[in-house]
Amino acid sequence: MKFTDQDTYFTKLQATQGKPLLIAGPCSAETEEQVMQTAVALKKHNIHLFRAGIWKPRSRPNSFEGVGTVGLGWLRRVKDETGIPVTTEVATGRHVEEALKYGIDVLWIGARTTVNPFAVQEIADAMQGVQVPVMIKNPVNPDLALWIGAIERIYQAGIKDLAAIHRGFSSYQKSKYRNTPVWQIPIELKALYPGLPIIVDPSHITGSRELIFPVSQKALDLGFDGVMIETHPTPDLALSDAAQQITPDTFGSILGKLQVRKTNY
Ligand code: PEP
Ligand code: MN
Repeated sequence: MKFTDQDTYFTKLQATQGKPLLIAGPCSAETEEQVMQTAVALKKHNIHLFRAGIWKPRSRPNSFEGVGTVGLGWLRRVKDETGIPVTTEVATGRHVEEALKYGIDVLWIGARTTVNPFAVQEIADAMQGVQVPVMIKNPVNPDLALWIGAIERIYQAGIKDLAAIHRGFSSYQKSKYRNTPVWQIPIELKALYPGLPIIVDPSHITGSRELIFPVSQKALDLGFDGVMIETHPTPDLALSDAAQQITPDTFGSILGKLQVRKTNY
């Protein structure tokens, strides 16, 4: 695989080169009002891409599994009314087809899907002949080859606008992190593919609001290209990942503190 760091979808999305790519939005789309309210508030912070999950891969059944296809219409409204491009998670070929029908700008593959080569291949097959940028989260387990393999499957489907998302790795050890960062794995990926943008997801690494800033800063210090941060108008009431979501205002103050190459962001 060869990636160029010029003229790709993700580098063009960043209005100012050298500043991090900013992706934010709720863990899950819950209502049309919640999605619109979050997007309008985040627009003030000049985010580059709005995220919301509509098909939610939950570890246990009987928890909120997402609103499904109806949420694609809400994301479409965000794009039309705010001008911010939108992204959602896809886990099957059908998800890819539906998301594309609604004009979702960027698709992402979640950690529980990256672990499964059959699922990734099915997604890759649905992307054949389509030009849609894709972000690929690391697998839940610290397996660099599996992460690279998923990226290769999508690349081989003809998609060259790719980015990797580091969301930490599952561990049974007690830790302050929900998913241990094991920074050497994304660093090794970046060393192998210098032109591939790598985005940090401090929300799923930390599992807690308090650690979003230090983990984002650490990633920027390591040369990461962007952040993906879960934001919700009323985080405590969120239907998924409540403990790690922050308000758009908190997102703004974290941005104000983040340092990129000694320049205040
Ligand atoms: C998410 O981004 O909301 C999500 C489910 O993340 P992950 O695949 O990293 O667990
Ligand atoms: Mn989440």
